[in-house]
Amino acid sequence: MENFIDEVKSRRTFAIISHPDAGKTTLTEKLLLFGGAIRAAGTVKGKKTGKYATSDWMEIEKQRGISVTSSVMQFDYHGFRVNILDTPGHEDFSEDTYRTLTAVDSAVMVIDSAKGIEPQTIKLFKVCKMRGIPIFTFINKLDRVGKMPLELIAELEEVLEIDAYPMNWPIGMGKEFLGIYDRFYNRIEQFRVEENDRFLPLNEEGELAVEHQLQQSGLYEQVLEEIELLNEAGNEFSEEKILNGTLTPVFFGSALTTFGVQTFLETYLKFAPEPQARPSDIGPIDPLKESFSGFVFKIQANMNPAHRDRIAFVRVCSGKFERGMTVTLARTGKTLKLSQSTQFLADDRSTVDEAVSGDIIGLYDTGIFQIGDTILEGKPIFHFNPLPQFTPELFVRVTAKNVMKQKQFHKGIHQLVQEGAIQLFKTKYEEYILGAVGQLQFEVFEHRMKNEYHVDVNMEHIGSKVVRWIEGDTVDERLNSSRSMLVKDRYDRNVFLFENDFALRWFQDKNPDVKLYNPMDDEK
Ligand code: GDP
Repeated sequence: MENFIDEVKSRRTFAIISHPDAGKTTLTEKLLLFGGAIRAAGTVKGKKTGKYATSDWMEIEKQRGISVTSSVMQFDYHGFRVNILDTPGHEDFSEDTYRTLTAVDSAVMVIDSAKGIEPQTIKLFKVCKMRGIPIFTFINKLDRVGKMPLELIAELEEVLEIDAYPMNWPIGMGKEFLGIYDRFYNRIEQFRVEENDRFLPLNEEGELAVEHQLQQSGLYEQVLEEIELLNEAGNEFSEEKILNGTLTPVFFGSALTTFGVQTFLETYLKFAPEPQARPSDIGPIDPLKESFSGFVFKIQANMNPAHRDRIAFVRVCSGKFERGMTVTLARTGKTLKLSQSTQFLADDRSTVDEAVSGDIIGLYDTGIFQIGDTILEGKPIFHFNPLPQFTPELFVRVTAKNVMKQKQFHKGIHQLVQEGAIQLFKTKYEEYILGAVGQLQFEVFEHRMKNEYHVDVNMEHIGSKVVRWIEGDTVDERLNSSRSMLVKDRYDRNVFLFENDFALRWFQDKNPDVKLYNPMDDEK
């Protein structure tokens, strides 16, 4: 069994979070290149062949089978097996993006040095913070002129409310980018300098140990001053704080020119956690436990419209998965044989025969799985803690075009809601309101209602809303108004949909007795 333990301990499973265009794809490609997972960069996603308008999406989906081919990427590096989970951005942004973050042990946050912290980064960061997972920061595009490094660190700490520890520090930027002063390895890594000469050692005082032309540069002097400032007034390095998610190590680099990426990868692997125990209703499940268990964090439907197959993505949480094994679906207590499994590596979908804690497997699904499902081997039967609920931001009122199709309409909605594709709310007049994190979810909903349930739907956009759940079972219906719409969620809990933040604050001022909460604020 020693082998199994070593296998599990070699796993590093993470997601890259960023705002579109910060360089997530480029960094992923470079990481895969180091791992030798792909032959040449540029083949990770079909995306580089052009950006698509949302309306093209259905066609695109057919052609490329969604971006699922790159949902999970795996490579080996220096004895580690690394799993990178994709978090779709752009118009693909959805609850799935958030849920993916429940299946990783750490996250890498990519920031564009010219843009700083952007909205999508904040949203994804919050989900990581809520889980308390370690976050490693890569500040990208130093080959371009961006914000000053001190400003970036201050912004990171202020906006995200996390302590930062710069592992290295850029020497110049843009055309004058000379490299990074590496505090962690006590060396300077020069930009655009060949392998052998790239690293210059520093002495105990943190200054160049050898004569070098860099010493003539004012930028070098400036960096020494900044480093002194960081040493005196900055945070202290703490592995413990990294691991509990309260301090993020920050790396500077340029993914496009593959600069700083290897240093980042190696340091990341040094500190990133191995697969962690996951809470369940019988206590935390140890990843080194021998019997297999896992949970479904994402279901990708309609990958191949001709076959209507779906893939349930499962994070392995304990034991070893073997193809053909028999497991129990905890929700129903029924057993099933897992014969069809798949793993995704760059452009190929390949069959996986074995996987251990930390790995992700894709199971062909004929409709048996739901998001959050626990599957496990042996006894006792337990359930992993439910996945957090994410706060939808966009809303539509939905009806069937043909009133004769009510039955199919309800069936379709309820199944898709259960699958976690979309959130459902009802007004007191029994109107259906759908909520989503991203616009694309509505389009996928419409498409699937038509193709899988043969119902055409009308969707009336009611725009973005601020959602708050209400504590307690009762609520005064007179508080229902156009600016604070009172609805029920699918568990019959009372919810207000506020027109905007202002309406929310106004409401709270007027009705201090009504206790409101946002599930994303207090999940732990
Ligand atoms: P994503 O949307 O986060 O996946 O970002 P991409 O990896 O697609 O990068 C967005 C754009 O930024 C592309 O044009 C990349 O070539 C460019 N880019 C990525 N990394 C760098 C970098 O280090 N320097 C420069 N100058 N451009 C970069």
